[in-house]
Amino acid sequence: MVVGAGIVGSVVAEEARRRAPTAKILLLDAAQAGSGATRYSAALSTPTGATDAHRRLVRRAERWYAELEGSGGPRRRHLITYWVVPESEVDELREEFVSDPPVPVGPADRVRLSATHPDLVVHPDEVLLRSGGVWAGRAAATAQVLATRLNRTGSSGCWEGVRVDDVQPDGDGQVVLTHTGERLRTRHVVLATGAWLASAAGQLGDAGQLYDAERVGWPLRVKKVAALHLARRPAPDDPVVIFCAEDAFLLPLPEQGLTLFSFYCPTWDVCPGRDLMIEPDELAAARAVLAARSPSLVAAVAGGRAAGDGYLPARLPSVVEDPTRPGVIVAGGCSGSGFQLAPALAESALAGLDRFAKD
Ligand SMILES: Cc1cc2nc3c(=O)[nH]c(=O)nc-3n(C[C@H](O)[C@H](O)[C@H](O)COP(=O)(O)OP(=O)(O)OC[C@H]3O[C@@H](n4cnc5c(N)ncnc54)[C@H](O)[C@@H]3O)c2cc1C
Repeated sequence: MVVGAGIVGSVVAEEARRRAPTAKILLLDAAQAGSGATRYSAALSTPTGATDAHRRLVRRAERWYAELEGSGGPRRRHLITYWVVPESEVDELREEFVSDPPVPVGPADRVRLSATHPDLVVHPDEVLLRSGGVWAGRAAATAQVLATRLNRTGSSGCWEGVRVDDVQPDGDGQVVLTHTGERLRTRHVVLATGAWLASAAGQLGDAGQLYDAERVGWPLRVKKVAALHLARRPAPDDPVVIFCAEDAFLLPLPEQGLTLFSFYCPTWDVCPGRDLMIEPDELAAARAVLAARSPSLVAAVAGGRAAGDGYLPARLPSVVEDPTRPGVIVAGGCSGSGFQLAPALAESALAGLDRFAKD
């Protein structure tokens, strides 16, 4: 059983379905598949990772989503990308690439960039690089496609609108208690409830905690992740622009007729269950970053999006087994990169269950 049908839970369920096609897999979500942070995700994937461990996860994601697309899953948009990077960090950035290392821009790139962003500011101590290997997916659509596949497979399925209130040990398995009073028996449970895994989430008034974060030693906190919508209608082949110093990027969304400006939002300990908005002080800070990079885009700000995501100190997702409930695996801590890193996280979660089954 998998609790939470965001991108992580959906990918866990899909991986389990592929590995054991005859097993009965139940995916449960309090809302609908593709809700939570997944609903708001920019779903950008860059071929970079700060550490070897991170790069392994990135390589895995690349293969997994390519296979999903090959098997009729949502199509990815491959995007030429310009990186605005401080000169002192160029070597470090190059080392982070797992493929398609960046190259300095040429005259044709400058023409292309000035056609899209005529007033783009690149400081004298910064370098402009170009790379391929970057793509944007569709996070909520992916979760929904995977939930649908489950519904069409044997006795497996996705139950939406069903909240799990508790998981209790029961003989050699678990009993999962839902808000409607059902008691569902299962051998294994993967908890993939995103920001709802944070220990503070229960105290913030959301539906109960499904595990005790302190007991499993998981210092998960919830940070707001946010992006502005810019009323700039992109052309289909407009590039992505990544501002390394600000941890921000401009992503064209031609289907929605918008450009997205993703910015670093340092607001912690938000409540995942509430509809989050970009608050005035956060908007002012984001506009200041945008104004320093492309003054003309500030006038194009037309709303935005925000959600809470679970962060772990190493900024990488992780899997932990609940020490008091053998067979319960907790998978999360996506730290703002959960769309990209869900496949590797799902594999670790299932490896955790394999280990448990052998013990
Ligand atoms: C604006 C924005 C931009 C982003 N951009 C990117 C990006 O470019 N690239 C990238 O890789 N990542 C990006 N992310 C981060 C990424 O979207 C998240 O890391 C990822 O969606 C987390 O997925 P999840 O499945 O762990 O959690 P969620 O998507 O939050 O899903 C958790 C699910 O659990 C359900 N749930 C909770 N409690 C219960 C319960 N008790 N019972 C049943 N169900 C429950 C919820 O309803 C929800 O559907 C972005 C996020 C935001 C908000």
